[in-house]
Amino acid sequence: MSTYTDDIAVATEWSMKAVALMTAQNVVPVPANYEVWFRYASGQAADLNEEIDKRLREGTAIDEQVTSELHQKYVAQTSLADAALETGDKLGSEIDKIMALVQSATGNNSALGSSVRAASEGLTNKSSPTDVRRVVEAIMSASVEMESRSRELEERLTETKSELSALQTNLTKARSEARTDGLTGVNNRKAFDELLAQEIARAAANNSPLCLMMGDIDHFKAFNDTWGHRTGDQVLRLVASCLKGGAREEDYVARYGGEEFAVIMPGISPERAEQAANAIREAVQARELIKRSTAETLGRVTMSLGISSHRPGDNSGSLIERADSCLYTAKRSGRNCVITETSQPTAVAKAS
Ligand code: GH3
Ligand code: MG
Ligand code: MG
Repeated sequence: MSTYTDDIAVATEWSMKAVALMTAQNVVPVPANYEVWFRYASGQAADLNEEIDKRLREGTAIDEQVTSELHQKYVAQTSLADAALETGDKLGSEIDKIMALVQSATGNNSALGSSVRAASEGLTNKSSPTDVRRVVEAIMSASVEMESRSRELEERLTETKSELSALQTNLTKARSEARTDGLTGVNNRKAFDELLAQEIARAAANNSPLCLMMGDIDHFKAFNDTWGHRTGDQVLRLVASCLKGGAREEDYVARYGGEEFAVIMPGISPERAEQAANAIREAVQARELIKRSTAETLGRVTMSLGISSHRPGDNSGSLIERADSCLYTAKRSGRNCVITETSQPTAVAKAS
């Protein structure tokens, strides 16, 4: 499954756009260069697009050299980030082991202090008073020193512990960023794939309901062509916020790719999922769009949605395929509507 899109028409459009841009910039379409320009054409890496757009605006050439730098900066870095995260995970488990050792070492030191004290108490019953006093004083002073060293060690360990906790917090943050879509702030495709597999396994194990909602903005290409990609990006953020607003706490909202979104809805009947989808659809339609830079009114966008419901034996592919087929029916039925697996046959009949 591609991380960009599974829609052949969209991928072909991006591909042609990428090749045309490379030709215009005099860049050889070898794989590394193609990856940069395809990524740009897909509009899925906001920072890469920002840099290229800036260069295009300024009229700076984006030749082979620059393309190779962009590859290093944006494409290779993404794989590096994944590798760093893996290392981070391993480091996390090492930290846990070290923490356990630290805990037991601290405990042992306190135990040592107590045993020295116990030994000195024992001696008072066995020797002459002068000897006993000397031994006891020696042991007591050793014990006091040991306890003070132990306290020092404990303090240092506490400091280390808080540094390690800060490191763990950073790792958690990095992990969450790697699963978040940079433009809209919802789950990205990688997170979606993992979450869907997890929820399907849960639904199968508990025999509990699970719905998958897939939504696609209507006529978004025309919107982009009229108002520009940047304004289109603002609309994607707005749609994501409508989806988050309409989803329950236990649902997962994700950007599936381009202008397609998905909501994984555990423990819900198709009827209730349909109600939620209609509420989202109405929320999207209700928002009047204003261009931030010029305060121009841009009208409204609408969204079509399809919902599939988990069946025994389903995997991610089959559940997505049925939601997608409902979404396709929604588009054929005139857009700005919601289709579920039970409403689909009627809708197909109506459309044909
Ligand atoms: P339909 O109602 O059939 O879905 O029509 P459509 O125009 O929305 O469908 P199509 O799939 O042909 O076009 C999707 C467009 O979405 C293509 C591209 O211009 C736009 N798009 C995809 N990803 C992004 C993005 O990240 N940012 C912006 N601004 N536009 C995007
Ligand atoms: Mg689409
Ligand atoms: Mg669309």
